[in-house]
Amino acid sequence: HVEGDHAFLGHPRGLFTLFTTEMWERFSYYGMRAILLLYLTDTVANGGLGLDRTTGSAFVAIYGTSVYLLSVVGGWLADRVVGARRSVLYGGIVIAAGHVLLTVPGFGFSMAGIGLVAFGTGLLKPNVSSMVGELYARHDPRRDPGFAIFYMGINLGSFFSPFIVGSVQRAWGYHAGFSVAAVGMALALVFFVAGYRYLGTAGTDVPNPITPDDRPAVARLGALVLAGVVAATVLAALVGKGWGIETFIDAVSYLALATPAVLLVVMYRSPRVTAAERPRVLAYAPLFVASMLFWMIFEQAASTLTEFADDRTSLELFGISISPAFFQAVNPASVILLSPVFAWIWTRTHDRPPTAYKFVLGLTFAALSFVFLALASAALGDSLASPWILVTVYVIQTLGELCLSPVGIAATTLLAPRAFRGQAMALWFLSNAAGQAVTAQTIEATEGVSDTAYFGGIGAVGLVCACILLLLAPWVTRHIRRADELEGAAS
Ligand code: GLN
Repeated sequence: HVEGDHAFLGHPRGLFTLFTTEMWERFSYYGMRAILLLYLTDTVANGGLGLDRTTGSAFVAIYGTSVYLLSVVGGWLADRVVGARRSVLYGGIVIAAGHVLLTVPGFGFSMAGIGLVAFGTGLLKPNVSSMVGELYARHDPRRDPGFAIFYMGINLGSFFSPFIVGSVQRAWGYHAGFSVAAVGMALALVFFVAGYRYLGTAGTDVPNPITPDDRPAVARLGALVLAGVVAATVLAALVGKGWGIETFIDAVSYLALATPAVLLVVMYRSPRVTAAERPRVLAYAPLFVASMLFWMIFEQAASTLTEFADDRTSLELFGISISPAFFQAVNPASVILLSPVFAWIWTRTHDRPPTAYKFVLGLTFAALSFVFLALASAALGDSLASPWILVTVYVIQTLGELCLSPVGIAATTLLAPRAFRGQAMALWFLSNAAGQAVTAQTIEATEGVSDTAYFGGIGAVGLVCACILLLLAPWVTRHIRRADELEGAAS
C-alpha cells in the first residue's frame, strides 16, 4: 500500500485534498450565484446593475449554460494538452481572478468577472472530479464511497456559502458579498496546492496528447468552433435585430442547443461506430432529453426561483429576517441529509429500478416541484408566500436529483460508442448546458406571463415527457443491459 492510502476516513489522503479544494470552490461558486440575480436586477441606486427581471433571469441561466459548455473545453484541454491537475490549478486561478474583478463596482468589471468565473469553472470542475477517480485502482471497492464523500464536500461548501455571502451582501453590499466568494476560492487554491504531495500521480498525465499528426485535425476543430460561435452570434443579432445583452444570451443558447445535437448526429453516422453500437445512440436520445429537462427545472434555483423568493415570498422565518440567497442552502442540506437514505434504499432494492426508470422518477419529481409552485402561486393571489413553499420546492427537486444525477454519468458512458468514450462525459455536461439554454429562451419568450402559468406550463411539459420516457424505458433498458454485458465480456 501507498503511504497515506487509508489516511482520510479510510481513503487515500489525496481525497482530502480534492474534498477541500472542491468544497471551497463550490462555496465560492454557489455563494456568488446566490446573489447574482439580485445584483443584476437591483437598481443602480442600491448598488445593482439595473437590468430588468426578464433579462437578468435569462442572463443567470445563460451563465450556467456557459459554465457547462466550457467544461467541455476544460475536459478537452486536460485530455489533450495540460492534464487534469494543471487544468484545475489554472481554472482555480482564473476563477479567483474573476471573483476579485466582481469586487470592483462597474458593469465592465462585473461582466469580465462573470466571464472569468465561468471559464475557470469549466477548466476546474470536470477535472477535479476525474482526479477523484484516479486515486483508486480500477477495482478498488472504495471508489464509489470515495465519490460519495467527495459529493458531501461539494454540498457542505454549497450549504454554508449562501448564509455567509447573503448576510455579508445585506450588511455591506454586493461587492462585499463577492469578496467572500473570492476568499473562498483563494482557500480552495491553498488547499489544492498544499495538498499536491498527497495526490501521487493523479491528474499529472495527458491521456491523449496532441501529436504533430493531429495538428490539422485540431486546427479544423478550432475553425469549426470559431465558425459556430460566429454563426450563432450573427443569427442572434438577426433574430434580435441588433446588438445587446440579449444577443449574447441568444448566441450562447443556440450554441448550447446545437452542440449536443451535432455530437449525437456525428456519433450516429460515424464509420467508427459499429452496427451494434448505433442503436444505442438512439436509445440515449430520450435519456438526454429527460436529463436536459431535469436540469432545465433544477437550475432555475438561481434565476426564476430567486425572483420568486425576492418578489413573492415573505422573507421572515422564526421571527428572523432572511435573505433570498438563503434558500440556496436548502438543496445542499437536503442532499447531505437524504443521500444516506437513498443509498440505503438502493441497497435494499439492489439498485432497482433500472436507470431509465430512475430518470423518469427524477424528471417527475422536478416537474412536480413546479406544479406544486404553480398551485401555491395561484392560491396566494397577492399575498406573500410562506418561506416553506420554496423549501418544499427545493426538497422535492432534491429527491429528483438523487434519482437521476448519480446514475446519469454511468448511463452516458455505457451507451456511448467506444470511439466516443471521451466525449461521453461532454454529452452529460451538455445536457445541463442545453437545459439552461432552454430556460433562457423560455424566460425571454414568456415575459409578462403569470407565475402560475409559467411554472405550471413547464411542470406539465415535464410530466408529459416523463410519461413518454416511461413508455420508452423498456427499450432503453434493453440497450443499457446489452452494453453492460458486452462491457463485462470485454474486461
Ligand atoms: N450540486 C452539484 C454540484 O455542484 C451538482 C449540480 C449539477 O450537476 N448541476 O456539483
